[in-house]
Amino acid sequence: MHSPDSQPAWRQKGFLYYPLSLYLRETFGGRVQKISIDAGFSCPNVDGRIGTGGCIFCDNRSFSPARRMNIPAIPEQIREGIARISARYKTAKYIAYFQPSTNTYAPAEKLERVYREALNEPGIVGLAIGTRPDALPDDVLDLLAGLGKETWLSLEIGLQSAHNASLDLLNRGHHFDAFADAVARARARNIRVGAHFILGIPGESRGEILATARKTAPLGLHSIKLHNLYVVGNTRLAELYAAGKVRLLGRDEYVRLAVDFLELFSPETVVERLAGDAPRDFLIAPPWSAERGNRIRQSVEEEFRRRGTCQGAKFKDSETL
Ligand code: SF4
Repeated sequence: MHSPDSQPAWRQKGFLYYPLSLYLRETFGGRVQKISIDAGFSCPNVDGRIGTGGCIFCDNRSFSPARRMNIPAIPEQIREGIARISARYKTAKYIAYFQPSTNTYAPAEKLERVYREALNEPGIVGLAIGTRPDALPDDVLDLLAGLGKETWLSLEIGLQSAHNASLDLLNRGHHFDAFADAVARARARNIRVGAHFILGIPGESRGEILATARKTAPLGLHSIKLHNLYVVGNTRLAELYAAGKVRLLGRDEYVRLAVDFLELFSPETVVERLAGDAPRDFLIAPPWSAERGNRIRQSVEEEFRRRGTCQGAKFKDSETL
């Protein structure tokens, strides 16, 4: 995208980080919107294969098989999503985003049927598939690699932190090595890979949060999503928060950390999200998590301007694995 001595293309266009909207315009020649799809998959951290409680921040009651029965068919979800989005935005291109639960947690043959159901819908130009790192056996990655030759495809893997103690505290049921292994096997198949991070995990210092960036930046991630830790109802985290055992980041503190984090990432990594997308009806804290994304974006940009830096400003300083 750019020579080592030149600015990245997004910087020349006035951006301070590489936003998803720009990447999508560059890739598809116009606006593209994601449509969230619930394909009815469960999660191995909920159904007992790895654990039963799920991650402490995740309201996973809806992942039980009984509640999965009433989910509309995928074409129906896509048509409803297109009707909703096209009323607000001028676009005819959509990415089917398999978002809730673990969207690679099924035999490859079933996954292929599900993904193709979405791809067959008019207007769908790609797939984004959210999952956890230990639900990516080789045959599933082979399937994704094959589909990735037919269409735009992005695999989004939840990591949250590179520190195993934090992953245990979150009850993730996997460690960092599972993530590094999944990314390496996906990258070896030329699959586009993104990662999700949570900033503000209880007990993590600023240095530890940034160590997660230093450890993952060299892995060649195509995209990242940053989330602040927020508390929603019906979670173990909500209980810990009510008991006074969780301190949440303040807004300014989070903005500074997000900028610190992005400075350590490659300028070629697309930034898909700058803060958590808290469901307002269930949000307990912090209140600022209910803000619209563009307000956090403005604050992040102001902080970059104040520092005179941008995404990737410290990337060369990142440690290699
Ligand atoms: S966050 Fe993901 S991995 Fe954790 S319980 Fe929820 S669906 Fe499962």
